[in-house]
Amino acid sequence: MKIGHNSVVAFDYTLTNDTGEVLDKSEPGEPLVYLHGHEQIVPGLEAALAGKEPGERVVAIVSPVDGYGEKSGDPDMQVPVSALPQDVTIEEGMVLDAQSPDGEQVTLWVTQVTTEHVHVTPDHPLAGVTLHFDVTVKDVREATKDELSHGHVHGPGGAH
Ligand code: ZN
Repeated sequence: MKIGHNSVVAFDYTLTNDTGEVLDKSEPGEPLVYLHGHEQIVPGLEAALAGKEPGERVVAIVSPVDGYGEKSGDPDMQVPVSALPQDVTIEEGMVLDAQSPDGEQVTLWVTQVTTEHVHVTPDHPLAGVTLHFDVTVKDVREATKDELSHGHVHGPGGAH
């Protein structure tokens, strides 16, 4: 079947940047699995996969605006270590869910950890990067009722 709204899709992928450097790739035999139409992958790739079938190869060049966003240009914020929960070890590359002063949920990426401060940025590590996806669609099926009510895929590659 073709990929459409509420399809469960498995695909192999290699992600490179403009210079051909490999940023990420799926392991052989371990495709990425997602629920189509639910913003689980970047919008530019989701759009490129719509209507494709198992066995098809999709090469998609996704601009930052359809990928992980543009860079904000803001300097990193420095949070005193003492202001952070003491029961978690904060490491570079970690993602933190935080609340802005006006109560909005924000996602922050840890860019640096010193003895006194944790440096964080709202920019995704791939913000501002043009994404080159080389994808092969492995499997397409309808989502089950349970999957739709949970909003995610069950089984291999999925939740639970
Ligand atoms: Zn579930």
